[in-house]
Amino acid sequence: MASFPEDVQQEVLLTAEAIRNRVKELGEAISRDYRGEQVFLVGVLKGAWVFLADLARHITVPASFDFMSVSSYGASTQTSGVVQIIKDLEESIEGRHVLIVEDIVDTGLTLTYLVELLKTRHPASLKVCVLLDKPSRRATPVRLDYVGFEIPDAFVVGYGLDFAGQYRHVPHIFTLRSEVYS
Ligand code: 5GP
Repeated sequence: MASFPEDVQQEVLLTAEAIRNRVKELGEAISRDYRGEQVFLVGVLKGAWVFLADLARHITVPASFDFMSVSSYGASTQTSGVVQIIKDLEESIEGRHVLIVEDIVDTGLTLTYLVELLKTRHPASLKVCVLLDKPSRRATPVRLDYVGFEIPDAFVVGYGLDFAGQYRHVPHIFTLRSEVYS
């Protein structure tokens, strides 16, 4: 019998090495763009914690961190379109250079909600960094300043992304066999 995660895996979309290389490039781009500034990274829980932890170690300008937690799909693979703040930021972002770090943009509803919310708190600047972008699924336009990879319309897990709370700790990104959903 195949061992985990091969026993549940349909296809590997992004290897750990491909992710590592791209995350390094993103960190370098962010470090260049924010030279002379302090950046305040806002990680969106739970999906972005793995990405943020790796990205942070390639950022060479002064940086601090906070987290927000918003409702996701739960145990389903369809968005409800309703965004609920489960955990808000602990610090004020007024006058700060804020970079939202998100795992994946699908319909764009979650990110649009977050961007509009954080804008009302008067940051000095507000940008968005996402690891994965599924442009074919967009329901509302959203500006992405840093994108790791564009991916096709498939439900993916691994590297922070879950299905029913599972697979976040797998170092690569993959699709699940249909049996896992049923
Ligand atoms: P959106 O609001 O853009 O439709 O969805 C954003 C959120 O939905 C992401 O932060 C993530 O939690 C979840 N999501 C969207 N696509 C996927 C996917 O392919 N896999 C997983 N695990 N979550 C996804």
